[in-house]
Amino acid sequence: MQTESSTLVARSPKVTEFLSKPRKLLIGGKWVEAKSGKTFKTLDPATGEVLAHVCEADAADIDEAVKAARAAFNGPWSKLTPSQRSRLLWKLADLLEQHTEEFAQLESLDNGKPLAVARIADVPLAVDNFRYMGGWCSKIEGNTIPLSAGNNFLAYTLREPVGVVAQIIPWNFPLLMAVWKLGPALAAGCTVVLKPAEQTPLTALRLGELFAEAGFPDGVVNIVPGFGETAGAALAAHPDVDKVAFTGSTEVGKLIVKAATGNLKKVTLELGGKSPNIVMGDADVEVAIAGAAHAIFFNHGQCCVAGSRLFVHEKLFDQVVEGVAAKAKKIRLGHGMDSGTQMGPLVSDEQLARVTDFLNSGVSEGARAAAGGARHGAQGYFVQPTVLVDVQPHMKVVREEIFGPVVTAHPFKTLDDVHIAANDTIYGLGAGIWTRDLSIAHRLAAKVKAGTVWVNCYNVFDAAMPFGGYKQSGWGREMGHNAIDLYTETKSVCIKL
Ligand code: NAP
Ligand code: MG
Repeated sequence: MQTESSTLVARSPKVTEFLSKPRKLLIGGKWVEAKSGKTFKTLDPATGEVLAHVCEADAADIDEAVKAARAAFNGPWSKLTPSQRSRLLWKLADLLEQHTEEFAQLESLDNGKPLAVARIADVPLAVDNFRYMGGWCSKIEGNTIPLSAGNNFLAYTLREPVGVVAQIIPWNFPLLMAVWKLGPALAAGCTVVLKPAEQTPLTALRLGELFAEAGFPDGVVNIVPGFGETAGAALAAHPDVDKVAFTGSTEVGKLIVKAATGNLKKVTLELGGKSPNIVMGDADVEVAIAGAAHAIFFNHGQCCVAGSRLFVHEKLFDQVVEGVAAKAKKIRLGHGMDSGTQMGPLVSDEQLARVTDFLNSGVSEGARAAAGGARHGAQGYFVQPTVLVDVQPHMKVVREEIFGPVVTAHPFKTLDDVHIAANDTIYGLGAGIWTRDLSIAHRLAAKVKAGTVWVNCYNVFDAAMPFGGYKQSGWGREMGHNAIDLYTETKSVCIKL
């Protein structure tokens, strides 16, 4: 790990202007202040400095936003044809693409991630997702069903939008998480109230401005930044919300489920992970080392699918651990807007404290850091990329989601050993397998309990490929046609002829 001091990329004038005013709530197509008049600050996590002030929604504003979403759902939005919805989503994608640099800078400043990553990953993946989902609008179909009840019936299904949807998202990929949720909801014909994470509200708010520009009717998308315990909880419990879609911690996911019971709204959840990344004895070692480092260090380990438990066949263990540790030590930490930066800070002082607590607990339970192991520097929320060895299955660092650049490395002997160890977790989001043996790849892919299994690659996402979790990693899937299914209800119509 290294730090380089060089100059920061100049902020685009549009970014400077966006940050210069308190950002308001988007409700019913209007930008309004919170009824309470309250605002909160969003910080640059590399320096701790205030980036912008944001109006803070609470239950009263959430109520207004839900009313606006309901009015749009019952009104102008339901009158559009599927192809009109498609064109709006494609126009939105075009606008987002045209503003790539502005969105990438806002994301880098607010979240801390390297600007280059936001430019080549976050924004283009978001654009792609809107384009892909735009294509679905005209392909949401029912079936005709032959009934054994008699030949004198015509039965068919309709797929209808679920209705008003609450979407609550985290801070690790602020724009992309908003788009993963908005795209299928809008394609299916739902209207939305979206609450961004308190740490990173900026790109969702900027995106909010593009809906009017693209021509969406007022109230189809409402954006209400605020805190989880107030705005988020009010949204999850709201009696006129038909579905809540949440991404974040498993702990809060359980609160969302409880809050949803009042009106039994539909719930989809994308939660935490402790994903196993398995290097078999026949793997291409250099490829596996690079893959293992990428799997844990991408986005500073703040990925729900982070390959945070590295299982390596005993004959390659030392070589792979040394390789990943060497890569960890070379990663250049710095401000996201510094073009030399490969890893930025964690998102907040809270996350810094959480991750360093995990590091301390690992060492006190007997783990050893082959690389990293501590905070980096005294300013900003930086943590050293860390590889922990001498770890045991019962340790907190092995069992719990750290959500930072920290991997635990475990040797194994046989395929059976490793698939049991890989599944020894409450989570089941992602998994990686590194092997040249196709038969092993397929056998292991079938045994690992995870929503996505990558073989000889990691962190490959595509708008067409379903994503979500087994076990306590979630309910339902995002992306692909599965996401559309979860934003629609099936209605059977049965006619006696
Ligand atoms: P979090 O508390 O689960 O927050 C995710 C979202 O839920 C945020 O928008 C948050 O609002 C909101 N929220 C919080 N409490 C709520 C409640 N009672 N009702 C409704 N909404 C609520 O995640 P975090 O605190 O940012 O991070 C804590 C840990 O969660 C991380 O260390 C990591 O382990 C895990 N995490 C996982 C993912 C993932 O993608 N799977 C993403 C982020 C975090 P506020 O921002 O205002 O709190
Ligand atoms: Mg911030």
